[in-house]
Amino acid sequence: MRILRVLHQGRIFYASLLEDSVVCLNKELGYTDPIPLRDLSVLPVVMPSKIVCAAINYRAHGAELGHSVPEEPRLFLKPPSAVIGAGQAIILPEASSRVDHEGELAVVVGRNAKNVAEENADEYIFGYTCANDVTARDLQQRDQLFGRAKGFDTFCPIGPWIETEVPDPDNLVLRTLVNEEVRQEGSTADMIFGPRRLLAYVSSIMTLSPGDVILTGTPEGVGPIRDGDEVRVEIEEVGLLINPVVGTPVTIEEKHTVQ
Ligand code: MG
Repeated sequence: MRILRVLHQGRIFYASLLEDSVVCLNKELGYTDPIPLRDLSVLPVVMPSKIVCAAINYRAHGAELGHSVPEEPRLFLKPPSAVIGAGQAIILPEASSRVDHEGELAVVVGRNAKNVAEENADEYIFGYTCANDVTARDLQQRDQLFGRAKGFDTFCPIGPWIETEVPDPDNLVLRTLVNEEVRQEGSTADMIFGPRRLLAYVSSIMTLSPGDVILTGTPEGVGPIRDGDEVRVEIEEVGLLINPVVGTPVTIEEKHTVQ
């Protein structure tokens, strides 16, 4: 099932996606018929309390950044305020002169998770979606820490929907395209630590809550995005996330028009 978060006539709810309509999943709202997509706005699909990210989780990407293969997952956090949905603009901050795309498979947590064993991880995974771990590469190198480089508003595009039925998340083709040019092409089979291992590991550190997200790292081929570009993250069996890139600062009100 593909699950969207939508706004319809002033009400926000989760809905399952049909061909060109959705079915409201909240019975209390009283919808009986599918709602045409043209009559609603699609919102960012998650409102996580935290976004936990794996760094250097594909061998070839580690090599391109000059890192050795880690023995344990290396984690950092992105702030929930960085989340935007499909179609919303990635805004390039003035503080950076080099902003990169990082297409990634995202795990959406479905239940409170603490000290979960890897073999039980599927019980805690609600589904998967596409994400872009947008990174100010120059600031990452300058700061040697990720808070600023990964934390700007709009630096976590995610969506457009949650796919709840992914037969084999450990073997999916992932591509990132900029203006239809393929920049990244990899397989989740090349991850050092797979989605279930990551969920188990993160849950040994912090309690994961429903709607929290784990970004599982990016394959090789990261590169810059510029004003006017269109970035696409497409993951087999999961979805296609498209975001424009805007270099001109815009106001917060403009950024959040779909909400
Ligand atoms: Mg990343």
